[in-house]
Amino acid sequence: MTDPNGKSLTIIGAGLAGALLATLLAQRGWSIDVYEKRGDPRIKGYVGGRSINLALAERGRNALRQADADDAVMAQAVMMRGRMVHFADGRLQLQRYGRDDSEVIWSVHRGDLNITLLELAERAGARLHFDRRLDRVDFDARIARFRDDRSDESFEAGFRALVGADGAGSALRAAMNAQSPLGERTEFLDHSYKELEIPPADDGGFRIEPNALHIWPRGRYMCIALPNDEKTFTVTLFLPNEGDPSFATLKTTADARALFERDFADAVPLIPELDQDWERNPPGLLATLYLDRWRLDGRAVLLGDAAHAMVPFHGQGMNCAFEDCVALARRLGDGDDLASAFAAFEAERKPNASAIQQMALENYLEMRDRVDDPDFLLQRELERK
Ligand code: FAD
Repeated sequence: MTDPNGKSLTIIGAGLAGALLATLLAQRGWSIDVYEKRGDPRIKGYVGGRSINLALAERGRNALRQADADDAVMAQAVMMRGRMVHFADGRLQLQRYGRDDSEVIWSVHRGDLNITLLELAERAGARLHFDRRLDRVDFDARIARFRDDRSDESFEAGFRALVGADGAGSALRAAMNAQSPLGERTEFLDHSYKELEIPPADDGGFRIEPNALHIWPRGRYMCIALPNDEKTFTVTLFLPNEGDPSFATLKTTADARALFERDFADAVPLIPELDQDWERNPPGLLATLYLDRWRLDGRAVLLGDAAHAMVPFHGQGMNCAFEDCVALARRLGDGDDLASAFAAFEAERKPNASAIQQMALENYLEMRDRVDDPDFLLQRELERK
């Protein structure tokens, strides 16, 4: 059992936020245990299963710098200078994010990023426990119970306080909610996503412009593609669940191929395994999670997707989760008791997270319906002058 009084914390989830927070706190002398339901990705390979790559923005990089993680992460990142819009008539247009390469975003591979952060956390002294899925919490006795999904064995561990970095489906959130309601509300978007892959070209290079976030805006729906440093692109189709076309009407791979040939014609030759990818990857749901409270006095607190999952259209979920980590580490360093530190953290971050959640919902409309609109483009040009 960890020391109930000293600078010790137990983090649930060794994903992006859990690994970064563990690094930040361990570097500052905290005794940190991290419990992760999956196996160690450094041994077994990463089994993330969704959003293979992510847009890393300045907010996220700033947080990485606080943990001396920026150099290691940036070694694998691909710069994206702007949106490369693929118009329906085949034209291409690069819309830069800023005036020059000082205002860009970066594409990072989720698995590589997670492994880099885990290595830093371990090097900083955090203890990582894999194949340990949080199952139950006795908040009064301060005992957490974990399961190993491979053997179905149970394990118990004492804790001083728990930090929930266990993502949108957080088991810690459910346990906290059962103890004292958090005011939880989830709003599902009536659109889902599916991931496909553009492999490297025959000469081993990228098949399309690497330093851009590619967008095929088509009104009610769109495709995007982000580069990976192994010269592939991850393509994501965002499509309504109902109506025509929708995931409901695309019943076969032939239906999906017909949609791509009609609306994303220049992408079809780039995705040689379109049929296989379509069958292999089930559609992913998109939702916004709202909570009235992120904490249970000084015994537990939530951050990242566990506290404020959002739709991905601003590319800010991870960036916001990283900012949470810096804010919580700073509040914990102020020397207050845990309940005060958690309250100050929530008061600081909740309004920010709510604003980003709203911007993410609004940006879907801009990406799928406005970036190919001449009036919108003119307005944008004027704003930049
Ligand atoms: P997660 O990354 O989900 O990590 C949670 C961890 O907890 C996982 O390792 C999981 O295995 C573990 N876990 C879960 N349950 C338990 C349990 N019971 N016990 C122990 N461990 C558990 N964000 C961006 O900033 N930029 C983008 O471009 C971007 N693109 C996205 C595209 C898509 C399609 C999606 C769906 C999301 C995207 N996001 C993006 C959002 C980003 O993925 C999340 O905000 C980010 O992963 C949140 O990190 P996290 O650590 O809070 O949660």
